[in-house]
Amino acid sequence: MTARPSYDKLIFELSSPGRFAYSLPASDVPVSDVATLLPAEFVRPAAPELPEVSEVDVVRHYSRLSQLNYGVDTHFYPLGSCTMKYNPKVNEDMARLPGFARLHPLTPEAGSQGALALMHELARDLGEIAGMDHVSLQPAAGAQGELAGVLMIRAYHLSRGERRHTVLIPDSAHGTNPASVALAGFSVVQLRSDDHGEVDLADLDRHLDEDVAAFMITQPNTLGLFESKIHQITETCHARGVQVYMDGANFNAILGLTRPGDLGFDVCHFNLHKTFTTPHGGGGPGSGPVGVKAHLAPFLPVPVVVQDEDGGFALDWNRPQSIGKLQAFWGNFGMLVRAYTYIRTMGPGGLRAVAENAVLNANYVLKRLDGDYDRSAPGPCMHECVLSARRQKRLGVSAMDIAKRLLDLGFYAPTTYFPLIIEEALMIEPTETESKETLDAFCDAMIQIAREAETNPALAQEAPVTTPVRRLDQTLAARQPVLRWTPQVK
Ligand SMILES: *Cc1c(COP(=O)(O)O)cnc(C)c1O
Repeated sequence: MTARPSYDKLIFELSSPGRFAYSLPASDVPVSDVATLLPAEFVRPAAPELPEVSEVDVVRHYSRLSQLNYGVDTHFYPLGSCTMKYNPKVNEDMARLPGFARLHPLTPEAGSQGALALMHELARDLGEIAGMDHVSLQPAAGAQGELAGVLMIRAYHLSRGERRHTVLIPDSAHGTNPASVALAGFSVVQLRSDDHGEVDLADLDRHLDEDVAAFMITQPNTLGLFESKIHQITETCHARGVQVYMDGANFNAILGLTRPGDLGFDVCHFNLHKTFTTPHGGGGPGSGPVGVKAHLAPFLPVPVVVQDEDGGFALDWNRPQSIGKLQAFWGNFGMLVRAYTYIRTMGPGGLRAVAENAVLNANYVLKRLDGDYDRSAPGPCMHECVLSARRQKRLGVSAMDIAKRLLDLGFYAPTTYFPLIIEEALMIEPTETESKETLDAFCDAMIQIAREAETNPALAQEAPVTTPVRRLDQTLAARQPVLRWTPQVK
């Protein structure tokens, strides 16, 4: 067995008796006094077994651990459908302003006017971006935004005396869509995509009946395609009393170009931790505001930030038809400050340029990889492209192997095996902020792997070999993560 690399050594294993990293003055409390000063149950019978290490050992240990993190601040991150964008540092400066960072969430309205003003303006800006009349900033994730939206749709139908029990969702949908719908008490009916990866209109028409509460779709869809018949879809739904929900988790393809509200959607959510550059990953904190048209406003979660005639801001709790409160305090406020900063620094023209460049970059990648990989749909894509590794799979190299080989070549992997309707899917989202040089380096690596699949498939099959850990059992790693060091019993 080869020696374990030093970053794999735990601080306890570096321990050597007599080493230490502190210099404290000697205690002036006589040991004999401890028993009288502290209640017996707080006195340890023996000193704890702490690692004995020098200062350089400690500093190097934690510095090494910090370098094991893979993130947007260190590497390109082409994870499709999850928009791992850069996190502008000005966002962090603003979120750390003491007036925001130190504000207690229960500060009375009179003492939190600045925070309420920011929330009011951010909701207005998001409403403007999406063509929605009202926005709630409360949901803490895209999935919670979906839940809020679907609950509002349910409350709307009930307020009209209608009981509808199903929600239609295309087979290309993100997994949170059916989960949120089920959590809201609806049953899910899955619709087929047509040969071009778009909603199959005939299938939609067949399923639209009096029991359908909503149609929930992603635009652009998860194949990175703009649903071209969207006006027809929303009109057909409305004609049958069906509300239309847009999953707007990845808004960066359409910012400033079109708006869900103008396309006929009644509800949409945003992921601030995707499109609007707030940090993302490690389990949060996320933020998934939800926007609605005016007819759904009575059902918004409480409280709603309102502005009175003399310009002051207040929290309105008096909304009898509200679906209720969804989130502790007022949502993840620090994320709201970051997203607000981003929108304000970009301005309308800047946001439009984001969408144009996101689409340009994705099409550049698609074009460069076309030929070496199969594509999932004909024609150009929006902010992300979905390829299929079915050709490589026949040579013994799966989408998962390609993802692992990319790690060896210094890139994070794209999303794999999603959307589910594409065999051996590789879903690549470069985002708008990457340079041509970075995109080229990534495409070169992808092309190299496609060539290797023909000549030396073992390279991908055995990858990764350069990472701190090799292939994990992904299910076990997620279900039973080992989060702390446990001493070996001697
Ligand atoms: C990320 C994503 C979601 C869910 O957002 P979370 O914040 O992870 O809950 C929903 N739909 C799509 C298309 C997404 O990409």
